[in-house]
Amino acid sequence: MIISIDQNSGFCFGVTRAINAAESELANGPLCCLGDIVHNGQEVKRLETKGLQTIDYDDLRTLPAHSRVLLRAHGEPPSTYWIARQRGIEIIDATCPVVKKLQDRIRACYEAHKNDEPLPPQIVIYGKPGHAEVIGLQGQTNGTAVVIESADQLDRLDFTRPIYLFSQTTKSIEGFNALVEAIQSQISNLKSQIVLEAHDTICRNVANRVAELQAFARANDIVLFVGGTKSSNARVLYSHCLEANPNTLFIASPDELEEKLSTLNSQLSTLKVGICGATSTPLWLMEQVRDKLSLIP
Ligand code: SF4
Repeated sequence: MIISIDQNSGFCFGVTRAINAAESELANGPLCCLGDIVHNGQEVKRLETKGLQTIDYDDLRTLPAHSRVLLRAHGEPPSTYWIARQRGIEIIDATCPVVKKLQDRIRACYEAHKNDEPLPPQIVIYGKPGHAEVIGLQGQTNGTAVVIESADQLDRLDFTRPIYLFSQTTKSIEGFNALVEAIQSQISNLKSQIVLEAHDTICRNVANRVAELQAFARANDIVLFVGGTKSSNARVLYSHCLEANPNTLFIASPDELEEKLSTLNSQLSTLKVGICGATSTPLWLMEQVRDKLSLIP
């Protein structure tokens, strides 16, 4: 069996930066992280053994003054900073600079247009409702932004008001372009005169991975996609892998390896097996999968 790990898989710049910040801040004393630092249970556990405590919003509201809270790469809405200020909590802001810039753009757009006459505009976010990054983006508009996940949800938009469209950083470029096209065609069907301003704010750190990942998937007989079950980026990249190679299996940890491989009818020893993952998958986890796989006869 020939086993290889995709060199382009693993943490993106924003996640690496947040994890480095957590590790260096842990050296200075107790540290909490608001939400899972990354959508990968194994990496969360690893950092928890080093002392990082994962908390939720209810915990944030009851933390004692001077507690230190790290904000992960996804970013947070202004209300989180406000709560921290009120409670005297020290924030260690590890929001990815790409997300921060997007938050600033959405806030600037909202501030510039919120009092437009005669019709107030709609800020629309192409993203996953409830996703941490999307909550942070919506917060820049005082909660007024409309979140839609696909062109099937156009009925949620008001085609009498100008539309300013932005994207969650990890959505697909194809999906964004399809949505822009669908909105444009609806505007023209309704003979509406409204303005559509579409801002492609998808992070190229993720978008550029798809072609590389698909090439890697095609070059192998079997692909093991390692990802967290809570990660939307993992689900998206896994589906691209599956499209390129139907023999792609999703696994969250090396413990699932034998069970997943038992679904294959092939004789592994003669095959090329590729291991890859999402922007939230640590390299060490892909290496553990490789090491366990190499012990399978
Ligand atoms: S995917 Fe891009 S925007 Fe999101 S955390 Fe990674 S580098 Fe930042």
